[in-house]
Amino acid sequence: MLIETFIRKQLGLKAHTVTEVEEAGECMIIHIDRLGNRLLRCGLCRRRCRKVHSVRKSREWRDLSMRKLPLKLRYRPRRVECPRCGVRVEDFPWAEPWARVTTALSNAVAKLARELSWQGTARQYGLNWKSVATIVKRAVQYGLKNRSRPPVHVIGIDEVSRRKGQVYLTVVYDLERRVLLWVGDDRTEEAVRPFFTEEMGRRRCHTLQVVCMDMWAAYANLVKQHAPQAQILFDRFHIVKHLNEAVEEVRRSEMRRLSQKEKVAFKRSRWLLLKNPWNLRDDQKERLSTLVRWNAPIVRAYYLKEAFQMFWDYKQPKRAEDHLEKWMRSAMRSRLEPFKQFVRTLRAHLDGILAWTKQRISNGAVEGMNNKIKSISHRSFGFRTAENFIAAIYHCCARLPLPVER
Ligand SMILES: [Zn+2]
Repeated sequence: MLIETFIRKQLGLKAHTVTEVEEAGECMIIHIDRLGNRLLRCGLCRRRCRKVHSVRKSREWRDLSMRKLPLKLRYRPRRVECPRCGVRVEDFPWAEPWARVTTALSNAVAKLARELSWQGTARQYGLNWKSVATIVKRAVQYGLKNRSRPPVHVIGIDEVSRRKGQVYLTVVYDLERRVLLWVGDDRTEEAVRPFFTEEMGRRRCHTLQVVCMDMWAAYANLVKQHAPQAQILFDRFHIVKHLNEAVEEVRRSEMRRLSQKEKVAFKRSRWLLLKNPWNLRDDQKERLSTLVRWNAPIVRAYYLKEAFQMFWDYKQPKRAEDHLEKWMRSAMRSRLEPFKQFVRTLRAHLDGILAWTKQRISNGAVEGMNNKIKSISHRSFGFRTAENFIAAIYHCCARLPLPVER
């Protein structure tokens, strides 16, 4: 078989043909021409067009390499007279309109960019960083336009930081399918509104049943406005995080009051505080009582934290509520300011916290995805702009389809 025939078949050309394969030093140039009078398609609507309007000057497209030689396709695009769209550049079976690389190459690059940094991907394919950025952004654009949109029932809204916590993005996940739905620049109510109004729209908002989020976040109003039927559920992992922060705050301020020797003893005995007191041996109880004597607030903070955690195991809403009420009362009596603060926040969000007993859903299901986003931001120094970072997040987490290779 001639190499020309081989390449024509590889490219799946029907109205075009390969006229020559030219070895040109660092690359191979595949010369392409129109095949006889075969009908060409309109680049906009892809309909077959009877008339060719004009022939333009030749253009080149980078393709996958053959062995070590990069391939370039060279062709003089025709402009066709489309009955629907008027005079347009024809449709190229090997590339998306305006692309300077073939679909085969851009898909290969896009796939690798899901695993590697953009710099690493560029190095692999002998491209520059900018070309990879363009390819990924085009792929994301295509994917967002062409992805399937099944009804969404349970979503989780979360924030991720960019540039060491100075700038935030908001991410929305479908917690049932465990896939990223949307990314917004910033974490304000206004920044997240387009998710409800544009991405979801009124009709799709109606199918939402549960929205999982942090109780400190600013999204509750949005849910009430755009999906009033949905239950707001405050995320277990976030609640525990705030609880831990309260413990940490108590510990830090109290540690300052201990002597060096006591500090060391405290650090060594932290596990004592995490055990159930009725499971301790006598000598361990002895040590624990020493800790209590030294600093009761730290010990109280640990016990409060442990007592709170039982809330997650209750199956009956009434019992869970009783437990929480009792816990909040004892926390308010604890004389620990961070805990009182925590209780005030709980009080203001009680309905969405108690919803846990019925729903048992949390953003923990997509914890892996959040870590993935962190690793994306770490592996790339290039994401100085939110636009690039957002594209990379969609590209790696939203399971978007890539353009079809024809
Ligand atoms: Zn057309």
